[in-house]
Amino acid sequence: MENERSPIIMWFRRDLRLSDHPALSAAAETGRPVIPVFICDDSVDALGAAPKWRLGLGLKAFSNALRDAGSKLILRRGDALTVLQDLITKTGAQSVFWSRAYDPEAIARDTKIKAALTDQNVLAKSFSGRLLFEPWTVATKTGQPFRVFTPMWRAVQSRDVPAPSTAVTRLPPPDVWPMSDDLEDWRMGAEMQRGAAVVAPFVCPGEAAAFQALHQFLNRITDYSDHRDRLDMDGTSNLSEYLSLGEIGPRSVWHTIQQASMTGVQGVEPYLRQLVWREFAYHLMNHTPSLLTGNWKPEWDIFPWNTDADSPEVIAWKQAKTGVPGVDAGLRQMYVTGRMHNRARMIVASYLTKHLMTHWKIGMDWFADCLVDWDPAANAMGWQWVAGSGPDASPFFRIFNPQTQQEKFDPHSRYVRQWVAEGQANPPETALAYFDAVPKSWGLSPTDPYPQPVVALAAGRARALAAYEGRKNQ
Ligand code: FAD
Repeated sequence: MENERSPIIMWFRRDLRLSDHPALSAAAETGRPVIPVFICDDSVDALGAAPKWRLGLGLKAFSNALRDAGSKLILRRGDALTVLQDLITKTGAQSVFWSRAYDPEAIARDTKIKAALTDQNVLAKSFSGRLLFEPWTVATKTGQPFRVFTPMWRAVQSRDVPAPSTAVTRLPPPDVWPMSDDLEDWRMGAEMQRGAAVVAPFVCPGEAAAFQALHQFLNRITDYSDHRDRLDMDGTSNLSEYLSLGEIGPRSVWHTIQQASMTGVQGVEPYLRQLVWREFAYHLMNHTPSLLTGNWKPEWDIFPWNTDADSPEVIAWKQAKTGVPGVDAGLRQMYVTGRMHNRARMIVASYLTKHLMTHWKIGMDWFADCLVDWDPAANAMGWQWVAGSGPDASPFFRIFNPQTQQEKFDPHSRYVRQWVAEGQANPPETALAYFDAVPKSWGLSPTDPYPQPVVALAAGRARALAAYEGRKNQ
């Protein structure tokens, strides 16, 4: 029998918000004291430099939000089960709540924790919140998970999405707070080195900022379909880093957009469709965790990928010195802002996997180190989609020509000029910032001449197609 005054441990992970949070709402509704906890375990330590730094900023913003709600975020480092058991002993908590995660490592950890806590008579309860639809609630007519996006979109587009819960404004504190680490001691930004100072002005963490971005986007959403691919326009919502850290919930986004539509805002469907691409990625990862580690289509296992992450061609790509402005611009945008336009992600990924015939995992891992909006499911699906090895993927022979892509989606070369300094008499600050963002050891200077192409576009394309034909014949 649970003691009515015993606290509930609310274990936060990638759900750093107070609204649209079923687990937190359930904890608050009990009226019992709530102890918000974030644990820096191996999964956090394993994050790439930019996502870890961004998480640190998110934790700081979330600590402040909890303080305003009369509460406090307790920070602990170590194995999650050991930390939770220690907190249970010290606080007398008899329940631990959390929002469900869908990647294989988190599922394995959470399953073990649930079993161990249940064995010691502690209520361990997981809730929805990260997705619009739980993966096991969306299936084809034959009960299988969707492997193709459009039928999934049709299946869910008019489904009811549960309304987001309102923000929790007060959280009853425990009689005594357990000890907390100091966030500064975790040094979440250490691996960003000097890049942190460059990216910082482009990042505005926290739930309030997420809602602000959403409301600003409502003024542009009507043009989303026309502008979303334009590299030189701010045509998208810029919500990915907030969704990635759970600083805003997808249900809040969905309902806000639907309400806007009901008041006459036009053209919302293409945007809702993109939100369902995010769901698609999560459902794929949940049903087939190997999406993160290997070719979804096994026939790609025999493709002669370059797997040397330190080959000169790959180094040129990583350093954004391929000599192809449309490719280098995208990568440089990432180093300066922590984010990259979706069209640019496709261009740089296509160039790496096709023109440079490099394994998509090398690109995926690099993004996982550099993107503040890194998301395991969207990143893996995005790379496999571009490479051709993934579910519902773009066919391999669809090799983007970075030059024509740029002409089409950056017709006045504004995007390239914004990010590539070389060759400009007065390069803008954004283009110069790249030289301050990247490691000094790369030895780059804006006065260096712009490099020759690593591979001639036509030759790279021909090489990739020949390898593709060779694979088919094996
Ligand atoms: P909007 O166009 O405003 O879209 C709204 C939301 O829908 C996004 O915030 C995102 O959550 C979701 N979304 C949009 N497009 C996609 C997509 N193709 N796949 C999955 N979800 C989508 N997105 C990430 O969030 N993290 C990643 O690590 C990531 N890696 C990618 C890697 C590659 C190679 C590619 C091609 C795409 C990747 N994407 C990733 C998807 C997409 O590029 C970003 O979600 C998008 O650029 C974010 O900008 P936005 O929020 O303004 O998007």
